[in-house]
Amino acid sequence: MQYHESITDLVGNTPLVRLGRVTQGIRATVLAKVEYFNPGGSVKDRIALRMIEAAERSGALRPGGTIVEPTSGNTGVGLAMVAQQKGYKCIFVCPDKVSTDKINVLRAYGAEVVVCPTAVDPEHPDSYYNVSDRLVRETPGAWKPDQYSNPDNPASHYHSTGPELWTQTDGRITHFVTGIGTGGTISGTGRYLKEVSDGAVQIVGADPEGSVYSGGSGRPYLVEGVGEDFWPDAYDRGVADEIVAVSDKDSFRMTRRLAREEGLLVGGSCGMAVVAALRVAARLDENGVVVVLLPDSGRGYLSKIFNDDWMADYGFLEEAGAASVADVLR
Ligand code: PMP
Repeated sequence: MQYHESITDLVGNTPLVRLGRVTQGIRATVLAKVEYFNPGGSVKDRIALRMIEAAERSGALRPGGTIVEPTSGNTGVGLAMVAQQKGYKCIFVCPDKVSTDKINVLRAYGAEVVVCPTAVDPEHPDSYYNVSDRLVRETPGAWKPDQYSNPDNPASHYHSTGPELWTQTDGRITHFVTGIGTGGTISGTGRYLKEVSDGAVQIVGADPEGSVYSGGSGRPYLVEGVGEDFWPDAYDRGVADEIVAVSDKDSFRMTRRLAREEGLLVGGSCGMAVVAALRVAARLDENGVVVVLLPDSGRGYLSKIFNDDWMADYGFLEEAGAASVADVLR
């Protein structure tokens, strides 16, 4: 019989798929690391598994304990799935800009979800950072993974995503492009790829316009899961060779093209990362091998990015037809 003992055994080892349509006119090879193949549907399954297993080993998380975390959804799904298998309770704190689809997924796994306003500063008592701290203090047996400062977040990518990419490309990867949220993906994967290639692999961060990583002030943007208004500890400021800022409009239009032209139904931060990857790839010759990481599926964004009325309300659809390659290669 061929089977796995637990769904959590299927975390990682996601496939690479070549992008063949949106790359028209580009000579380099552009490969997508499709993270929605993880059992919880996103890249965050990797960090959830490693953070929980490390906390069990250190004694920070004990049998019957409760996991409390401020999360925009994907980390919550990964934690909820692993916690369900290992018998822990979960309470998640989300900002109100997160789609109800994502919140309902967390509740489906049996987690409790507390929704907080986005429009308050991080110091405000109702901010999602403060609400989660209060819940940790008030819940017996509570443990907060804190993906923004937990070293097992970047470590999970150092030990899984990085080695997978090196093996899958037979050491031919020249550029790695990924969005930056907590910074865990770029820091862990980037450090591994730098070490194994003697510094040859170029590490490129993709960031929403307005976020601090690309020099912004933290002003709001609509892409979910990436960009910050502060510098998290999980982010290694020395790892990226380049940061590319991408607008909401370019991100969402590319997200829609990925579904229609590549058959990849993925989230908005994936469209953002692909825009950055194409800008990098356009500068390269046929020896370039650019890998872009696509963190999650488009299923959580059907009522936003894939809804024409929502896109039109923000002025993201004003010209008929798909954006051309030239549009994103400014
Ligand atoms: N895209 C999405 C949809 C995410 O949920 C996240 C995680 N916050 C990222 C990108 C960025 O990954 P990281 O936190 O590892 O920087």
